[in-house]
Amino acid sequence: MRLRFPLRFYFSALSFFTYFRPNMTPIISKLPNTGTTIFTLMSALANEVGAINLSQGFPDFETSPVLIKLVNTAMKKGHNQYAPMAGVLALREQIAKKTEKLYGAIYNPDTEITVTAGGTQAIFTAITSVINTNDEVIIFEPAFDCYAPAIKLAGGIVKSLELEPPNYQIDWNMVRRLTNSKTRMIILNSPHNPTATILNKNDIDELSALVKNQDIFILSDEVYEHLIYDGKTHESMARYEDLRPRSFIVASFGKPFHATGWKIGYCMAPAFLMQEFRKVHQFLVFSVNSPIQHAIAEYLKDENTYLSLPAFFQEKRDYFREGLKETKFELLPSFGSYFQSVKYDKITDEKDCDFALQLTKEIGVAAIPTSVFYSKGTDYKVLRFCFAKKQETLDKAIERLIKI
Ligand code: GLN
Repeated sequence: MRLRFPLRFYFSALSFFTYFRPNMTPIISKLPNTGTTIFTLMSALANEVGAINLSQGFPDFETSPVLIKLVNTAMKKGHNQYAPMAGVLALREQIAKKTEKLYGAIYNPDTEITVTAGGTQAIFTAITSVINTNDEVIIFEPAFDCYAPAIKLAGGIVKSLELEPPNYQIDWNMVRRLTNSKTRMIILNSPHNPTATILNKNDIDELSALVKNQDIFILSDEVYEHLIYDGKTHESMARYEDLRPRSFIVASFGKPFHATGWKIGYCMAPAFLMQEFRKVHQFLVFSVNSPIQHAIAEYLKDENTYLSLPAFFQEKRDYFREGLKETKFELLPSFGSYFQSVKYDKITDEKDCDFALQLTKEIGVAAIPTSVFYSKGTDYKVLRFCFAKKQETLDKAIERLIKI
């Protein structure tokens, strides 16, 4: 290669860049103990080694062609500029209708519903909008990985309560013990990721009694609301007149409509909370892409688009569970979400993170180790599989898992 400048120049340019960083005051990380999410890591590994990816939760089948056509039409009709900050009104109206129909709750589309760039953004925004320095937030572990970092970034303090397999029941006496005058929020997640458990009416009664006359908000992560099985009822906070006025409810369109890559969801909250939520939302994303909002607004007019989901996913769950019965894994309950957890202590006593890596590299099936969802890394030897997959994918995975 012929150098255009004297060699000295390249060295000085290089040293400029290498010196520049060390001379800066070191960054004080706001999240010193946070790495890259397990979902990113496991999906990357699965791709690298060509494993069947049952780790990160996303379907390997297509979204509805009707919905795709509606998006195309919205684009062709010219819905390609900024949507209103709170979301396309027609979509917010459909969300309000769906919520009233399913949970008997009236939300005002103008003041109480905001369309978000997925569930994670809604969760971050809700936490940021009301959590102040040293406010305590109760979470239940295993906890979806975005809760704790969002609390810490807001200056809040994470108070976690560990739940144990197989049933991951909440011990409300323990919750009461964790609660004090600094408790500002409780984060709930039903159907639950990663355990696939759901809240029942007793949990709701305990929660109601606990927060009564307290300054405690609820953040209810309900992104799997439509994925609930065996005829069970989704205990949305929207159903309860005492809980609704203090709750942010977060929902997703990616999960029900098999389009996780579209990153679209919404948040519902009473006006006084939504007002604060929007102050943050407008500077975090401003507004969510408009053509997909127009398309989903149309699509939701047919209620079958979401009412058909429990049966659709229950068939997959049952099929996958039947297959897993042929393996040495021990099945844990799966009442909702598109996850199935298994215990593997009869196979090996390896740490779950090590076993998940080995399973991916040597057996060719990627799963999520659940210890990463415990702040202390508690390892119950439980892996999480995602069954939102084509039958042939599940068949291939089972074929491989049987060999262990
Ligand atoms: N919710 C998905 C899961 O639990 C992952 C989302 C993400 O990758 N951040 O697998």
